[in-house]
Amino acid sequence: MIREDAVMKIGVLALQGAFVEHIRMLRELGLEAPEVRLAHEILGLNGLIIPGGESTAIGKLMASYGLLDPVRRFSKDHAVWGTCAGMILMAKDTGRNQAGLGIMDITVERNAFGRQIDSFEENLTVDVLRDGHQRPFPGIFIRAPRLVAARGSARVIAYLADGTAVAACQGRWLATAFHPELSNDLRFHQYFVDVVCS
Ligand code: GLN
Repeated sequence: MIREDAVMKIGVLALQGAFVEHIRMLRELGLEAPEVRLAHEILGLNGLIIPGGESTAIGKLMASYGLLDPVRRFSKDHAVWGTCAGMILMAKDTGRNQAGLGIMDITVERNAFGRQIDSFEENLTVDVLRDGHQRPFPGIFIRAPRLVAARGSARVIAYLADGTAVAACQGRWLATAFHPELSNDLRFHQYFVDVVCS
């Protein structure tokens, strides 16, 4: 018999943005992926994903739903991954005065590549992924932020061809400027589950 606690549960913050797509990817990997809107829904999770969307909207909603402190506390001993707007929320330094989690020792620049119409795709070499060196990961950038700096134990794990840093990890925390959940490539979700949540 499979014990209930043997199934890994990765919650997806479901206040705004691309949460459904993350849930689809996690389910494809055979995990439970509950939607998180209230603080008590974090209890019992192995990890949490903060999706892309609009970081100002998500930050304000997290503040008014009383989620900022509970997620910060959760992050002390659990895995948390922010994609795009989620990466902005994960950063200690955004150079702006906006509500966020401020978990990772990274500096980000919001909307660093221009407007919505300047969105783009670029194949990325991400060594930490399975076959990462041979098989590029399709990076989908939608009005994306960039990483300006990674300090302390935070390290950059993906760059664009022009040298712009676009993903970082720090212990159990992960931040990607792009949207793996909009690709058909499960490797980033697999990495989060295998390495960061383990
Ligand atoms: N531009 C958005 C922001 O600053 C992020 C866009 C996204 O998540 N795709 O919050």
